[in-house]
Amino acid sequence: MNDIILLKIGEIILKGLNRRSFEQKLLNNIRRRLSKLGKYRVYLMQSTVYVEGEDGADMDAAFEALQKVFGIVSMSRAAACEKDKDAIVALAKEYVREDMQRVKSFKVESKRSDKAFPMTSVELSQYVGGELSDAFPDVEVDVHNPELTVHVEVRDLAAYVHGAPIPGAGGMPVGSNGVAVTLLSGGIDSPVSTYMIAKRGVRLIPIHFFSFPYTSQQAKDKVVELARLLTPYCGRMRMEVVPFTHIQEEIRAKCPEEYFTLIMRRFMMRIAERIAKDNGAKAIVTGENLGQVASQTMEAMASTQAVTDLPVLQPLIGMDKGEIVAMARKIGTFDTSILPYEDCCTVFTPRHPRTHPTIAEVEQAESALDIQALVDEAMQGLERIAIEHE
Ligand code: ATP
Ligand code: MG
Repeated sequence: MNDIILLKIGEIILKGLNRRSFEQKLLNNIRRRLSKLGKYRVYLMQSTVYVEGEDGADMDAAFEALQKVFGIVSMSRAAACEKDKDAIVALAKEYVREDMQRVKSFKVESKRSDKAFPMTSVELSQYVGGELSDAFPDVEVDVHNPELTVHVEVRDLAAYVHGAPIPGAGGMPVGSNGVAVTLLSGGIDSPVSTYMIAKRGVRLIPIHFFSFPYTSQQAKDKVVELARLLTPYCGRMRMEVVPFTHIQEEIRAKCPEEYFTLIMRRFMMRIAERIAKDNGAKAIVTGENLGQVASQTMEAMASTQAVTDLPVLQPLIGMDKGEIVAMARKIGTFDTSILPYEDCCTVFTPRHPRTHPTIAEVEQAESALDIQALVDEAMQGLERIAIEHE
């Protein structure tokens, strides 16, 4: 049987935005995602993307992978046949045979975008429903509350019989909404914030601040693994690892302890901005969450953001920890995030951090540092790591 996957496009149909280039991005992302799994034909018609397997390509694997591609609202597997009522019945009998042995009631729901088809969708539903009812006399027709809905669609090239659609990943195709850098620590939050901004169609460049030997090689490997776990959603990425040890040592040596974290976070922002500007990225994404830790008060965030002109996107700002954890589990990063390797933020944590600083006060606290030289030095030591798909 000619098994295919039908994908309904989501928010791409947006006012004022260039729909063609959105669709093209989505098709490219789908093709790239499937290229490792086998040979598939991917094409778009009438706001639906069709995926056909070639040379026995694995349709189960494709269906699973496509559930993580942003820009798809719903998806279903289907079989195609000629646009003829009896061909549709023959296909439906075979395609739903197993399901019909499982359920007690069913109905047929038809859609017809080819208006030249000689039956209305109601007539087609009645006809196919009647034939299926004869073929499976133990299953009742129930148009109000059926256990199984058999979907029939008559489109331009063919007719399709499919089961109920399942939700897709939603959002917009990655790359359709520009590029941003994302600060990726080893924690629970930042993989989720990265996922959420990718969902809005943004291509991401992860940045990790690494303080070897205060933080271990395993801590870095863990972040690389988190980035890799995000590739089914974000696509291939290139991570920038910033050597952060010297900056932290300088802060410890020359600044008042209660400001350590705030000054460190200002360095993160300055370096993130430099990397962003070098790569055409237009925003900085963080996993900050209002009130979660000392550096996440409004005043602390104001002092951190004061060093950059770029918008700082904080998609988790209003979420509860429990909600963030649930999302981390859903996207598959939670188990890696809770591995016990320390992050650079915890290396020189002040005993009594300032929680409500003024910007002037923080500027004063960091005034003994040669900020420009430290940023330049970190930029020269960047390590790039290609993050490939699984
Ligand atoms: P997370 O769970 O993402 O680590 P957190 O709750 O521990 O977040 P902080 O440690 O205050 O919060 O960090 C806030 C944000 O700053 C993180 O979500 C992340 O975006 C960024 N960040 C913190 N440490 C690093 C790091 N070593 N490298 C890159 N980004 C970092
Ligand atoms: Mg953290």
